[in-house]
Amino acid sequence: MTDRRIPVAGPSITEKEIGYVTDAARRCWGSEANYFHERFESAFAEYTDARHAIAVTHCTSAIHLSLAALEVGDGDEVIVPDCTWIASAAPISYVGATPVFADVDPQTWCLSADAFERAITPRTKAVIAVDLYGGMPDLARICEIAETHGIAVIEDAAEAFGSMRDGKMAGTFGRTGVFSFHGSKTMTTGEGGMLITDDSTIRDRVLFLRDHGRVPGDVSFFNHEVAFKYRMSSMQAALGLAQVERAEELVGGKRQIFQWYAEHLANDPRLTLNAEPPGVRNSYWMITAVLRDDCDCDRDTLMASLKTRGIDTRPFFHPLSAIPAYADSPYSKPAREQNSVSYSISQRGLNLPSGLSLTQDDVAFVCEQIGEILDESPAARSAA
Ligand SMILES: *Cc1c(COP(=O)(O)O)cnc(C)c1O
Repeated sequence: MTDRRIPVAGPSITEKEIGYVTDAARRCWGSEANYFHERFESAFAEYTDARHAIAVTHCTSAIHLSLAALEVGDGDEVIVPDCTWIASAAPISYVGATPVFADVDPQTWCLSADAFERAITPRTKAVIAVDLYGGMPDLARICEIAETHGIAVIEDAAEAFGSMRDGKMAGTFGRTGVFSFHGSKTMTTGEGGMLITDDSTIRDRVLFLRDHGRVPGDVSFFNHEVAFKYRMSSMQAALGLAQVERAEELVGGKRQIFQWYAEHLANDPRLTLNAEPPGVRNSYWMITAVLRDDCDCDRDTLMASLKTRGIDTRPFFHPLSAIPAYADSPYSKPAREQNSVSYSISQRGLNLPSGLSLTQDDVAFVCEQIGEILDESPAARSAA
């Protein structure tokens, strides 16, 4: 046994980040208040190949601003994958619209294009496609279906900084793309987020809504609408600039960690790891194992045993339609009946330690423990 705990997530912070943040604390006041915001936003736009990037307080606020800028509101429906973090869906309620929970694809664990198409009604105004754990849904088909029906696509790339599909960066497929810089994410600003778009009308509307209904630079205090306050601080923007300057190093770190896991676990018939279908670059935010449904090993037992051995894990996201927050939501009941893939995977999946400070030896240790625990499971014992 060990005293050391292996955490499930964690960032890579170097002297570069510390230097930039220190500089921001000294310098970014008065006329230089936006010095790091401008540099961070333009570096982020360049990295993701987007025309405009707007830094905000959280990814949740970026989704809220996206929906507000697209004029989604009362009486509208917005389709989201059933398996995702609640932040993908909560802003739908903020604007008075109704979330519709569609099933995920068994291979990518992301929104199924077919399930999306089946969930469309005359009230559907938008779809929030989520790049789960760094993987990518079939965004080409999702965008095509959305276009046919006049539905706006928001790409929630919170977990997919640096992922790509068919040569396009994660976040650039929809009308807007949104990112999270929460401390657990691949690149971090502590708390923070980004909205990217190629559409200058949306950019202007988002800038206006982000700052209490005034255009950037307006100091007349004569606000035109009741809006939001979603700007991040200079210290966060400085941290973000340092991180985005290290983007390929951070993504490379995640991909290396996945490779270490794959060396031990990819051929284990009892589980499946994150998929990287042809044409996709997965940035593997969270290395995730889904126990095979014929494996007869219990996910919760595995997590509890790993915990006693000093290894932290997380359960795969519960279907939103299964959690108390959405107990009375009108589309929860049909989702519970129809979304068999979401319900099956979420009970069998767990996120393995994926923090950027993990070493190859840490990963080998985690994989050894997983192997031992699964070998000792009642099913394995009775088969022996
Ligand atoms: C982390 C996350 C968010 C929310 O990010 P915040 O910055 O915490 O608001 C949204 N969607 C997904 C899929 C996430 O994983």
